[in-house]
Amino acid sequence: MSSYLMGTYEVIVVGAGHAGCEAALATARMGKKTLILSMNLEAVAMLACNPSIGGTGKGHLVREIDALGGQMGLTIDKAFIQSRMLNTSKGPAVHSLRAQADKMLYHQEMKKTLEKQEMLDLKQGEVIDLLVEDGVVKGVIMNTGAKYLAQVVILATGTFLGSKIFIGDNNFLSGPNGMAPSISLAESLKGHGIELRRFKTGTPARVLGSTLDYDKMIEQPGDDEITPFSFMNDDLECEQVPCWLTYTNEKTHQIVRDNFHRSALFGGDIEGVGARYCPSIEDKVNRFADKERHQLFIEPEGLYTDEVYIQGMSTSLPEDVQDQFYRTIPGLENLKIVRPAYAIEYDCIDPLDLKLSLEHRKIANLFCAGQFNGSSGYEEAAAQGLIAGINASLKIDNKEPFIIDRSEAYIGVLIDDLVTKGTNEPYRIMTSRAEYRLLLRQDNADQRLTEKGYRVGLVSEERYQRYKERKQAIEDEISRLEKTIVTPSIANPFLNEIGSSEINRGVSLAQLLRRSEITYDLLEAIDPERIPLSRHVKTTVQVNIKYEGYISKQLTQIERFKKLEDMKLPEDLDYNNLHGLRIEARQKLSNIRPRSIGQASRISGVSPADINVLLIHLERMNRK
Ligand SMILES: Cc1cc2nc3c(=O)[nH]c(=O)nc-3n(C[C@H](O)[C@H](O)[C@H](O)COP(=O)(O)OP(=O)(O)OC[C@H]3O[C@@H](n4cnc5c(N)ncnc54)[C@H](O)[C@@H]3O)c2cc1C
Repeated sequence: MSSYLMGTYEVIVVGAGHAGCEAALATARMGKKTLILSMNLEAVAMLACNPSIGGTGKGHLVREIDALGGQMGLTIDKAFIQSRMLNTSKGPAVHSLRAQADKMLYHQEMKKTLEKQEMLDLKQGEVIDLLVEDGVVKGVIMNTGAKYLAQVVILATGTFLGSKIFIGDNNFLSGPNGMAPSISLAESLKGHGIELRRFKTGTPARVLGSTLDYDKMIEQPGDDEITPFSFMNDDLECEQVPCWLTYTNEKTHQIVRDNFHRSALFGGDIEGVGARYCPSIEDKVNRFADKERHQLFIEPEGLYTDEVYIQGMSTSLPEDVQDQFYRTIPGLENLKIVRPAYAIEYDCIDPLDLKLSLEHRKIANLFCAGQFNGSSGYEEAAAQGLIAGINASLKIDNKEPFIIDRSEAYIGVLIDDLVTKGTNEPYRIMTSRAEYRLLLRQDNADQRLTEKGYRVGLVSEERYQRYKERKQAIEDEISRLEKTIVTPSIANPFLNEIGSSEINRGVSLAQLLRRSEITYDLLEAIDPERIPLSRHVKTTVQVNIKYEGYISKQLTQIERFKKLEDMKLPEDLDYNNLHGLRIEARQKLSNIRPRSIGQASRISGVSPADINVLLIHLERMNRK
C-alpha cells in the first residue's frame, strides 16, 4: 500500500478512549505538539459498559487523576446525573465517590475538551501499522495511506484491538457497541515482536426504562450533599435521577443453568480470560450456586434516552435466553431489550513487558496505556493514560521518568501491580490492593500529588494556588482545633445532649473530635469562632485528627518501604552473572529489570534469599 506524509508531531496517541484522552491532554498541556486518533470519533471517551465513574478504589483513582492535572474528574463533574459517597459506614480509607454519568454528555464534554485544547489535533482514522526503525518507533500508517511521524507513540486501543463479540454460540469480529474492530494493527504489532494475548469482558443488555415496573424495586437516590470529584469544584448542583435495586431468583437461575451449554463462556468458544471481579450471570449462578438471589442495579444511561443499564447482569447467553431470564426479575417482566448483552474478546499486551514509566521494553519511545495493558475499567485506563502522557513528554525532553510509588497513590499501586507483578486476567483496582490505604484516601489526593503534578509542568497555576490555599486551610484549622480549649461548663451540656461522657477540666476541640461519636459538623455547636470551610477541607481535617495515631503508624511503615525503594538497581545489571541467584530469579529480574530492591522484592519468583544476594552485590558496588 502506498503511503504519503500527512503530518509530523512530537506525540501520537492511538485511541481516544479514557486512556488516550488523558494521555493526549497531558502531552498537549505539557507543550507537546500532539495528534490523537480514533477509528470513530463517536468512541471518544465512550462509556462502553456501566454508565458511571468511580466506586470503591476507582473513585480514588479519579481524585488522583484530578490532583495531578488530569481531566476525568472535571468531565464527570459536568456530566453526572447522580452522586453517592459509598462505604460511609466504614472507615475513611474506603469512602469512595461514585457518580452516574449521562453517557452522551460525558462523551460530548470530553470531545469538546479535546477539540479546544491547544497543541492538540483530534482525527478520525484507523491506524494499521507502526513505523519502527532500529527498535525505535517513528510514527504510524493509516488505512487511508496517510503517514504521521512522531518522536513518541502512545498505544491506547482498549477493547477494540482484534476484538470479537460473542452471543451464545455465535461470534463475529466487532468492536464494542457495534463499532468496527481494529484488526490490522494487531497483526502489525505482532510483526514488530510485541506479544499479544486474549482477554475478555462482558456487558449486560440495555433495556427501555419505560417498560420496567419500578414499584417492584428499591429506589437508590443520590446523596443530599454532592461531593465534587474535582478539587477545582467546591459545590455542585444537580437534579439527580435515582437508580433502582432488584434481585434475581431461583427461576432466573434455573433458566441460566438450563442453558449453560449455549453460553459462549461455557461453550468454550471464548479463549480470552475474564475478570474474576466482574462475573457474568452464568459465572455467578455457577460459582455461587448456594446463593438464592443476586442483586442488580438499574442505572439510567442518560437524561435524553430511555435506555437503562442492568448492572451485575452481563452475559454471553443467546438473545432468546437473555429475554427469558431477564423477565423473571421483579420489575423486568415486560422489558424491551434494545441492545443485547454480549461478551467481547480482545488483544492486549503482558504488562510485564513495560517499564514503570509505561514505555514498552522492546520498542523505544512506544508507550502503552489502558485496557491494552491488561487492566479493566475507565478509571484504571485514565490513570495509565495520564502517566503515559507525562512520561512521553519527559522522554522527549530527556528528563527522568515520573514514577509514583505504591505508598504515594493508588495510581502507583495500579502501575506497580501491572508492571512488576503482572496479571493473568483483566486487572481492576480495589482498596484491598493498597498497603497504605489510610494515607491513600480520596479526600487527600491533592495533598499527596498536586505538588508533583506542578513540578512536572502539568498542574495549572490556578489549580496549584487552590491546592496551596487548601493545604494552608487544613493546617490552620487543625492547629486551631488543637489550641482551642473548651471548659466543662461550655462542653458538658452539648456532650450530655449527644450522649457522650462529660469532661471535668478544659480540653481542646481536637481532643473532643477524637471521640468516635463526635464529628466536625457536630462540634460546631460549641465552636462559634470557626470560619466556613469547604467539604474537601473539613473531611481532611476530621480524618487527620481522628486517625492521627494510625496515620503516624503507617507513615513509619512507609519510611521502611521507601528505604528499599531508594536502593536503586543499575538498569544494565547482568543478573545472569550474579552468583547465588536462583535461575528463576535470574530470568525474572532480567526480564523485568526492576528499578530498586523494593520493586525486585515484589516480583513473584524472587525470594528473600535472592534479595539478599542483590543487597550484598549493591553493598560491594557502593564500597568499590
Ligand atoms: C463490553 C464491555 C464490557 C466492559 N465491562 C467492564 C466492566 O465490567 N468493568 C470495567 O471496569 N470496565 C469494563 N469495560 C471496560 C471499559 O470500557 C474499558 O476499561 C475502558 O473503556 C478502557 O479504556 P481505554 O481507553 O483503554 O480503551 P477504550 O475506551 O476501549 O478506547 C479505545 C480507543 O482506541 C481506538 N482505537 C482502537 N484501535 C485503533 C486503531 N487501530 N486506530 C485508531 N484508533 C483505534 C478506539 O476507536 C477507541 O477510541 C467494558 C468494556 C466493554 C467494551
